Amino acid sequence: MSQDPYSVLGVPRDASADQIKSAYRKLARQYHPDVNPNSPEAEEKFKEVSVAYSVLSDPDKRARFDQFGVTDDAGGGVNPGDFFGGAGGFSDIFGMMEEMFTGRSRGNQRAGRDGEDHRSEVRISLNEVLSGAERTVTYKRMAKCANCEGSGAAPGTSPETCRTCSGSGQVTRVQQTFIGSIRTSTQCPTCQGTGQTIPTPCSVCKGKGLEVVTEKLSITIPPGVEEGTAMRVTGKGSDGTGLGRPGDLYVVIDVQEDSRFERHGRELATSYNITFSQAAIGDTVEVEGLTGSLTVVVEPGTQPGALTRIRGEGLPNVRGSNRGDLIVQFNVVVPRKISERDAELLREFAEGRGEPVPKGVESSGFLGGLFGKKKK
Ligand SMILES: [Zn+2]
Ligand SMILES: [Zn+2]
Repeated sequence: MSQDPYSVLGVPRDASADQIKSAYRKLARQYHPDVNPNSPEAEEKFKEVSVAYSVLSDPDKRARFDQFGVTDDAGGGVNPGDFFGGAGGFSDIFGMMEEMFTGRSRGNQRAGRDGEDHRSEVRISLNEVLSGAERTVTYKRMAKCANCEGSGAAPGTSPETCRTCSGSGQVTRVQQTFIGSIRTSTQCPTCQGTGQTIPTPCSVCKGKGLEVVTEKLSITIPPGVEEGTAMRVTGKGSDGTGLGRPGDLYVVIDVQEDSRFERHGRELATSYNITFSQAAIGDTVEVEGLTGSLTVVVEPGTQPGALTRIRGEGLPNVRGSNRGDLIVQFNVVVPRKISERDAELLREFAEGRGEPVPKGVESSGFLGGLFGKKKK
């Protein structure tokens, strides 16, 4: 990929994960192929936006881009299925080769039309990010008509080579002008660029060669996927007509929020409430991890907000790494109400340590205490 993913998404270099996500969602909606049928520009833009997001939503890839200015990781590492990270690789090279050998590009100059891309969203839980998941996606696509096998011609008959364009799908006009002759190529008006005419159209697809089918596809989602990752399933979009290529299916992963954890790439973070006495004396506590409870040590003298790292209780990434860490933040909770006896013990405690001995105040609420009015 040559484009700067930040400028593709229109976000600053220091954009937060949330900013990046919302910029991506907005652009993906705007350029989505379903919203822009038959617009190769929008399709191209949609792919660019998805590629940019796949880079910036992955802390490792983003860091690599920030450091080296490149995003191409197609050359190494695990490539689970057809991830976006490798997009722009093989198909482009084949496209170029075809152009070199045939003098014809894969664009709109081919006889026939390429099939459209489709998009499907699947939702997975945070636990499934750990384990990987299987899903069946159901979607509608245009497929080659079964009755005529995509030819558009009624069974027993066959399409004929278009006489207007001799099968090229293009007509070339030569205009004589004062600077010489100018050749312009346009789509053949007789066959609409397919290169063929159909004397007896198929009754099922009315000669289009395509029909709407409901496709069911099982998808294997590898462990470690990030929110918004787009998996490309090559050739599972709509079929093309004539020599057109089939489009692709993009399966976009939506990772369900888990109120227990915050995720940062391979790391998970959670918070755990402890009492003042636990913080001061130290204790062992059971903290909820992704797959069950974990015994965690509260060191004596733990301060409010202190962090402890539990190795290997986070998530893997899609390259099949070991699990990252779980970070536990300790909240020291101060009791809201205590008895007279507890207060006595705490005064004794303060006195013993040579600390100021609290006199206590009449509970008056924040404003009352601040302005000295509003006594209840
Ligand atoms: Zn048909
Ligand atoms: Zn023609």
